[in-house]
Amino acid sequence: MNTTKKEVTLKLPIVSELNKGLSAIFVLAGVVMALVAVFFFITIIGFFAAIGAIVVSAFCFVISQRLKNSSVGFSCPYCKKQLMVMGGIESIKCVRCGDLILLKWETPKSIKS
Ligand SMILES: [Zn+2]
Repeated sequence: MNTTKKEVTLKLPIVSELNKGLSAIFVLAGVVMALVAVFFFITIIGFFAAIGAIVVSAFCFVISQRLKNSSVGFSCPYCKKQLMVMGGIESIKCVRCGDLILLKWETPKSIKS
């Protein structure tokens, strides 16, 4: 085990306004489908219809997260394994060597925060 943790500096992925808008739409769709699932369940229209609505709802949430956080690829500083990480995450454990890698994010200059 390494006691000194290595730090990797990555560029924060740029999320376009279009993706932000789409993400919001998918979150809304996810909430609506979750409500539809509850409605199906209460009115006993169908248990399977409710399950289907829950699956669609979960799918919408996953897509919205994907649109908002584009992942960035980098190689582990210990074992050089190629890893993928979501933008903005502070640390990640390497799947191969299990060492903790600290992540530093560089914000692109074009984005005003
Ligand atoms: Zn590693």
